[in-house]
Amino acid sequence: MNQIKNCPICNSETFSKFLSAIDYTVSNASFNIVSCDSCGFHFTNPIPLESEIGEYYKSESYISHSSSNKGLINKLYQLVRTITLKQKVKLVQQESKGKDLLDIGAGTGHFMNACKLAGINALGLEPDADARGFSEKNFGLDMKSTDELHTLPENSRDVITMWHVLEHVYNLNTDFEKIRNILKPDGKLIIAVPNMSSYDAKHYKEFWAAYDLPIHLYHFQPKDINALADKFNMKVEKVFPMKFDSFYVSMLSEKYKGGNILKAFWIGLKSNLKARGNKYSSQIYILSKS
Ligand SMILES: [Zn+2]
Repeated sequence: MNQIKNCPICNSETFSKFLSAIDYTVSNASFNIVSCDSCGFHFTNPIPLESEIGEYYKSESYISHSSSNKGLINKLYQLVRTITLKQKVKLVQQESKGKDLLDIGAGTGHFMNACKLAGINALGLEPDADARGFSEKNFGLDMKSTDELHTLPENSRDVITMWHVLEHVYNLNTDFEKIRNILKPDGKLIIAVPNMSSYDAKHYKEFWAAYDLPIHLYHFQPKDINALADKFNMKVEKVFPMKFDSFYVSMLSEKYKGGNILKAFWIGLKSNLKARGNKYSSQIYILSKS
């Protein structure tokens, strides 16, 4: 395990324990989240070594989950994915002037494929070789390993997307700086992350599925995205909700809690109704260089 000594955002050395939660998907081990005493950023501490984190991802079931047609839950999942893919492509077209897109953490390539069909020139980076293989076999995509990030030229991309990826990134500061440099001067960085100041997070506490320990290293609130943007001379221009996430995350949280799956729909709905623009379960942030 790797003990984090400095806050990834403000570099402070003093933290307080926030909560302990279990890894419900793979190891059943317990992990801690701490909050920085200076800036209030929440992060997992200690974290598994980067060389060992792969054991905590279930990439095979992730691929079968994302491609299987069986069962009501999978059908619903795929219906929601079809809708959200369209929304994501539309958002990219609406927010960005150019057509050169970089998708970091491209997974099984569904978003990249949707971009391609919409005439966007998408390059995808993905650490998992199985997921890259899936994208090549199913969509004919040529994704690169995430290691290629540091070989990409500066000022070369109109838009960079990270859909639920930033919370997994080990080298937050060096990668964020590189990502900023790859963007063109008028480029847009689109980041989607869970929001621990949402109603569903506060309701489920240690059972909240989007804490997803230990693979989620950071647990962002809107103020943290602002602080991170500020640190790298960027600014948050807009915030958009991801309204399906409160239902999906509540469903998983009820499962972990041994609760009632039907109650998840009520909590998910309540979360969206109480969000007031900045407290949705997951949010999309549009950043530009300042
Ligand atoms: Zn801090």
